[in-house]
Amino acid sequence: MSLRLTGFTRAELTELMVQWGEKPYRAQQVWSWIYAKLAASVEEMTDLSKPFRARLAGEIAPLRPTAISHRISEDGTEKWLLACDDGITMETVFIPDTNRGTVCVSSQAGCSLACPFCRTGTLPMRRNLTAAEIVEQVTFVRASLAARGIRVTNVVLMGMGEPLYNLEAVTRAVSIIMDGNGLAIGCRKLTLSTSGVVNRMEEAGRNLNVNLAISLHSVRDAVRDQLVPINRKFNLAALRKAALAWPLRGRGRVTWEYVLLEGINDSEQDARELVSWLRGIPSKVNLLAFNPWPGAPYTPSPREQMLRFQEIISNSGLVTIIRDSRGADVGAACGQLAGGTDDPPIDRTAPDEPPHDASPSDKTDDLAPYPGDRLAHEESSG
Ligand code: SAH
Ligand code: SF4
Repeated sequence: MSLRLTGFTRAELTELMVQWGEKPYRAQQVWSWIYAKLAASVEEMTDLSKPFRARLAGEIAPLRPTAISHRISEDGTEKWLLACDDGITMETVFIPDTNRGTVCVSSQAGCSLACPFCRTGTLPMRRNLTAAEIVEQVTFVRASLAARGIRVTNVVLMGMGEPLYNLEAVTRAVSIIMDGNGLAIGCRKLTLSTSGVVNRMEEAGRNLNVNLAISLHSVRDAVRDQLVPINRKFNLAALRKAALAWPLRGRGRVTWEYVLLEGINDSEQDARELVSWLRGIPSKVNLLAFNPWPGAPYTPSPREQMLRFQEIISNSGLVTIIRDSRGADVGAACGQLAGGTDDPPIDRTAPDEPPHDASPSDKTDDLAPYPGDRLAHEESSG
């Protein structure tokens, strides 16, 4: 069976090289080809000896998935449908912004939780993605974009699936993506979003040094039971306790995601209850415009309602932004990922070939983990 190197940590790759009777520095060379120089294949690793390259080529699986479709939105957001070895597809989105570029990766093909406002939730759960498949979404997008001079600075685990239901692979993938000798996405540039899988949050907090986003959507159990069905298992009190126990580093905050649905969770009273529920938790609130999809049983809150909601939160001293929809015209917006069921064939006009000069960068401000954010109010302290 061929080895999928993109699922190896650097320490494991070093061990493998030693097992092969190679010097440990070989691991660093290969690592750097895959993650810093973004080589798509062994043939590109020209400073390795021919016999070593031949052995690598014979034993390892391809380093990249293949793209089945690629769409670019009018606002610059891009969406790829990538094929795994077994024919399963994963969706990956890139969202450019003035001073950052974010890759939104999937952790599962489908999702086993059926949040009724989310299109992914209407799909059958196919399977967990492997660590290699998660990592390759990042290398694929970074290489594609570097060829066009576009940088990837942030990674969010906010694509298809519930990352905490695939915690082992996600933990491994995160350590590979963060490795300073490779992709080097720093902990402040990496965000994991969960619907609130409370019984995995303690372990996640211990093993993952990333920003945490929690999909809240209501602070009333009766409403959240409907919107986020996992609430029936882990209610708001349990979620609050788990959020308080999350290890926030430095000036970190928990990001709460709240999709505004007309007449469901968008009243002024909802906003006031949200403020009091958050009291005592260092928080930032991301208000999401609802992205409709065919057959969705909700409508987006009117703009004025969203602004009123935001004002109440921001007047309480909390940091809050309205996250405008991005990439909706190509089905790439939050909650629109549908496993490519309505995608046209791949657009080959956009180049996907990797260059060799992509270097990670760490210059952007990271207050908001997601692009398109509009900051309403920044706290003066804490
Ligand atoms: N399963 C995880 C991560 C993937 S969903 C989670 O639920 O957090 C990523 C984000 O998109 C979540 O905050 C989710 O609530 C939001 N979302 C899902 N469907 C949406 C839609 N139709 N419009 C806007 N946001 C949506
Ligand atoms: Fe799954 Fe998240 Fe969509 Fe809910 S919102 S169905 S948890 S992907």
